[in-house]
Amino acid sequence: MAKPRVVIVGGGFTGTALAIHLARLSPEGLEITLVEPRPLPGHGVAYSAQDPAHRINVPAGRMFLSAEEQGDFERWYQSSPAFADDPGARWEDGKLYPQRSAFGRYVAEKFLEAATTTPSTLRHLHDRATRLHGHTVETAGGVQLRADAVVLAISHPPPAVPGAVAQALARHPSLIADPWQPGAFDSIGGRDRVAIIGTGLSMADVVASLHRRGHRGPITAFSRRGLLPRPNARGDYAPWPLRSPALPTLSLRGWLRRTRQEIAAAAEQGISWQAVLDDVRAHGQQIWPSLSLADQQRFLRHLRPWWDVHRYRIAPQVAAVIAEAQAQGRLQVLAARLKQIAPDGEAASLILQHRHGGNEPLQVDRVIVTTGPAHGALLESQPLLHQLAQQGVVQADPLGLGILVNEQAETLNRQGEANPHLLVAGPAARGRFGELMGLPQVAEHAEAVARRLLHTLTPTRRCPASR
Ligand SMILES: Cc1cc2nc3c(=O)[nH]c(=O)nc-3n(C[C@H](O)[C@H](O)[C@H](O)COP(=O)(O)OP(=O)(O)OC[C@H]3O[C@@H](n4cnc5c(N)ncnc54)[C@H](O)[C@@H]3O)c2cc1C
Repeated sequence: MAKPRVVIVGGGFTGTALAIHLARLSPEGLEITLVEPRPLPGHGVAYSAQDPAHRINVPAGRMFLSAEEQGDFERWYQSSPAFADDPGARWEDGKLYPQRSAFGRYVAEKFLEAATTTPSTLRHLHDRATRLHGHTVETAGGVQLRADAVVLAISHPPPAVPGAVAQALARHPSLIADPWQPGAFDSIGGRDRVAIIGTGLSMADVVASLHRRGHRGPITAFSRRGLLPRPNARGDYAPWPLRSPALPTLSLRGWLRRTRQEIAAAAEQGISWQAVLDDVRAHGQQIWPSLSLADQQRFLRHLRPWWDVHRYRIAPQVAAVIAEAQAQGRLQVLAARLKQIAPDGEAASLILQHRHGGNEPLQVDRVIVTTGPAHGALLESQPLLHQLAQQGVVQADPLGLGILVNEQAETLNRQGEANPHLLVAGPAARGRFGELMGLPQVAEHAEAVARRLLHTLTPTRRCPASR
């Protein structure tokens, strides 16, 4: 009998991890096609970064394809030439923070390994999916792929330029709208004045990149609250499992109070807040669905900026660059919003309104947008998703985080009907699952989606991928 065919659209970490799990878990084997335009699977937006200053933001030991493989990446990395070539990867506390591209290479290798050691047929098609018709995925290269099931593993659309900036600086040389583009910083001079819109992880990457390139000009980074990502705790720290009851049914306010109590209790025993947050995060996929929609919205409006800076931490190498630049007065981080922006010859002229009052004029040579992927506009970001949304095959989740799915990660059409043959894996499903962005959760989710698909793809239950 022919093997069931699975087409995975998007071969970043999520899609590749899913392909690997499917291949490993299927005793009879599947025919798996990973559609991904990038040269190698497993890289995606995060791990295709080529700048050596862009490091994994947790120690290598905490990056894995499945919980049972914890430590495997770290061992692989230590025996790779990349480790020998990068003495800066080992931080003072002995922990390893490899360049992000190393993790991409590791996942690509695991994909090849699964292709050669499992009964499944794994293929990476270097192409972009553009349409889904009935059972068939069409690609930009004119390939038609028949599928028994399709999984959308597309997470990070390009950043959106704030409207006022796009309007004022359209095609102006001062604007760097997408800092992830190769060569994005080539035009920046060593003493250029730089404004960065956003103060999160992408800002940290940009500051680290500029520093590595020898830039020593003034940088002003601003966001509404001016919050910077926090560093990781030093060295090994004891875990802090939430005390009993670990998962009571609480409101958002209740969870906030509970988390603060846990942090205080941990501190009394000399355990860092990072350990508490790690455990809250590990339970995130149970806590999030237990909150009401109103509480989820409240979280996104008020708490998310705080959660993000504590939850998504930065490598100590990057934290050190930022701290040094701040101490030397080269980097200013402001809680401010952009009130006005206009071109000024080759430069740009801004007026920032401080959160706590007062305006500040700013003249800069470059304006870099680091507001991160425009997740709220995911369905509009490309032809395939646009088509599926237009036809009502998929819909945006009500929180604007990605695509609406049920608890099995199956898409829900405009009528609210679940489609067990069109699933979403990875961060685009986090409206349902909550904490689904950091590697451990994405890896677990990919494995859960693989199990779900295998359950569906029994020979008697095979049917179309879209309706
Ligand atoms: C800059 C950055 C750094 C991060 N660093 C860390 C870290 O250090 N540690 C950590 O735990 N987490 C980190 N994360 C979070 C996490 O690892 C990522 O969110 C995760 O890798 C998600 O990968 P993905 O495959 O779902 O998405 P993506 O990386 O967005 O990959 C999706 C892929 O789909 C492809 N694609 C899109 N549309 C189509 C189409 N129509 N047809 C075919 N292919 C398509 C794209 O080319 C892309 O490669 C980081 C995230 C980002 C954005």
